[in-house]
Amino acid sequence: MSAPDRYAVIGHPIAHSRSPQIHALFAQDTGQSLRYDAFDVPPAELHAWVRAFFEGGGRGLNVTVPHKQAVLALCARLSERARSAGAANTLVLDGDGQLLGDNTDGVGLVRDLTQNLRIALRGRRLLLLGAGGAARGVIGPLLALEPTELVIANRTAERAQELVALFAGRGPIRAESFAVTGRFDVLINATAASLHGQALPLPASAVDADTACYDMAYGHGETPFVKWAHAHGVRQAYMGFGMLLEQAAESFELWRGVRPDTAAVRKALVM
Ligand code: NDP
Repeated sequence: MSAPDRYAVIGHPIAHSRSPQIHALFAQDTGQSLRYDAFDVPPAELHAWVRAFFEGGGRGLNVTVPHKQAVLALCARLSERARSAGAANTLVLDGDGQLLGDNTDGVGLVRDLTQNLRIALRGRRLLLLGAGGAARGVIGPLLALEPTELVIANRTAERAQELVALFAGRGPIRAESFAVTGRFDVLINATAASLHGQALPLPASAVDADTACYDMAYGHGETPFVKWAHAHGVRQAYMGFGMLLEQAAESFELWRGVRPDTAAVRKALVM
């Protein structure tokens, strides 16, 4: 019997990653023979490590913080969504043995919001908090759904303005400070503040009971952002497990050509 195909996630740090567990369940669910590991790869070793992985027979990689932008230089080709995001979270060898960089974060978020949680984005006023790699990956897919407005607010104002300049012309996008004006239909937290146990200095007027709040971060118990939402009367507040599963499913399909059932896997995972 041949050895199972090899996949992995790389990041620095990586110990917290749920991806090996998720992909093992996807493989079981779809009857695919593969192995998926997590490796801590420091930035200085990134290029040599990725080359060695694929030269050694590796079939695909997921890439997480802090490597999503740095891996672009290793790719012979980029998908449209990786190019527009300026970041890749999925690498795969194409039929010619060339490395393709893709980004499944945006589609993962949009699928969780619109299909799993049934939150409408078209014609809605959206607030995206953060301007790092995760925010970059989701702006294109969010604008494609034609919100009335997408406001980007970030601690470092220049980074939000850079993203507005990058995506200008693709939809109604502008930057504000965290002291946003008016009420929003949907708030998406793409900052790492929750990981540091911090809430964001947002005005109470940004939300009401009918606003939906989504924190890309997740953990044991409610994140500070979800706590803030509930404390301000928001009824629908979620953490990013669904996005994690959906972006993983998109990567898995890219690699294996079959789509796992994320609802079934979610039930099997203790999240
Ligand atoms: P980056 O390091 O690229 O960006 C971090 C962002 O968070 C920046 O906008 C930064 O602002 C902001 N930030 C960091 N600390 C604070 C703070 N204390 N207060 C306010 N803003 C802060 O990280 P990523 O974009 O890759 O990841 C962001 C979050 O999204 C993480 O929590 C990550 O776990 C999550 N994520 C979840 C995914 C999922 O599948 N559920 C997928 C991808 C990411 P500044 O520019 O001022 O430094």
